[in-house]
Amino acid sequence: MAKRKKNEVLVLGIEATAHTFGVSVLKGKKVLSNERKLFMTEQGGMVPARVADHHVEFCDKVFLAAIKKAKISLWDIDLIAFSNSPGIGHSLRIGAVFSRSLALLLGKPLIPVNHCIAHLEIGRMMTPVDDPVLLYASGANTQVIAFESGKYRVFGETLDIGVGNFLDSFGRALGLGFPAGPKIEELACKGKNLISLPYTVKGMDVSFGGLLTNLKAKIKSGEYSTEDLCLSVQEHVFAMLVEVTERALAHTGKKQVILGGGVACNKRLQEMSRVMCGERGAKSYCPANEFLVDNAAMIAWAGLLKYSAGDKGLLENTGIDPYERTDSVEILYR
Ligand code: AMP
Ligand code: MG
Repeated sequence: MAKRKKNEVLVLGIEATAHTFGVSVLKGKKVLSNERKLFMTEQGGMVPARVADHHVEFCDKVFLAAIKKAKISLWDIDLIAFSNSPGIGHSLRIGAVFSRSLALLLGKPLIPVNHCIAHLEIGRMMTPVDDPVLLYASGANTQVIAFESGKYRVFGETLDIGVGNFLDSFGRALGLGFPAGPKIEELACKGKNLISLPYTVKGMDVSFGGLLTNLKAKIKSGEYSTEDLCLSVQEHVFAMLVEVTERALAHTGKKQVILGGGVACNKRLQEMSRVMCGERGAKSYCPANEFLVDNAAMIAWAGLLKYSAGDKGLLENTGIDPYERTDSVEILYR
């Protein structure tokens, strides 16, 4: 393994922190494959035990598809990385057992990766950003993160649920299935009237719980069109996120924003971030959707960074941590 240069190392990445089971093969920075299977429903949300069943059912298929697409032999892999934190315990355990079994079988190092940090690192790898503020807007996580003094610090975050979970809960109340975000975006495009909604920014933090209660009452009243509600939700919620991101730019003096997380696939959020950055002489970047949603390529890449900085990939260090904080992880490669 040590024989290969960093840009030649074959890394297998495994993602299973929540709804997605993903497997990717990277050759250095080159993505040879990035396969995934997303837990979905027609109605209702994400029940952890059902998500775990989904991952058990599909893990082998996703894995074999990734190996086949990368056109490598299993035995060519130099290094395995998996997301061990943070996330839903049920999902994390499937990923951990799968990854450890594979590392034992192949006799290769296994690097544990913090999922939130992986979102930021793939953004740095895929776009020209170097030292950005990350607006990480995903299902379970909503954080504004930037690098300071050896760690990725959280400058602002949700005080209750993640923005994606909020959108999915709002969508569930409207009878949309999971994930609801893309459907809300479609419906919002047809909205005409902006409805005034609660806007909750507290210092650097945001909160969605009260807004969700307010929306459920509005849906029940039958007074508003679904399209207008979707439009208004997007306008309010994305303005909240962009406001705290702007404050983090002002505080840190940084000049770049990178978007991450599934909610960042939303074109309106991307536009609002671009406009905000434009107005203050900064620039907003966004990787392709494939690398915004939960994906295993980002895990492989973040694993390679850790490995290059001396992580030995010992099995005894590969426990899961559903609650690991972004700012508790020492970053040795920056
Ligand atoms: P992640 O956990 O990062 O994979 O992101 C999943 C979340 O992103 C789910 O809550 C989805 O509803 C949400 N999502 C995906 N696409 C969009 C979109 N176009 N607009 C808003 N939310 C989205
Ligand atoms: Mg994520």
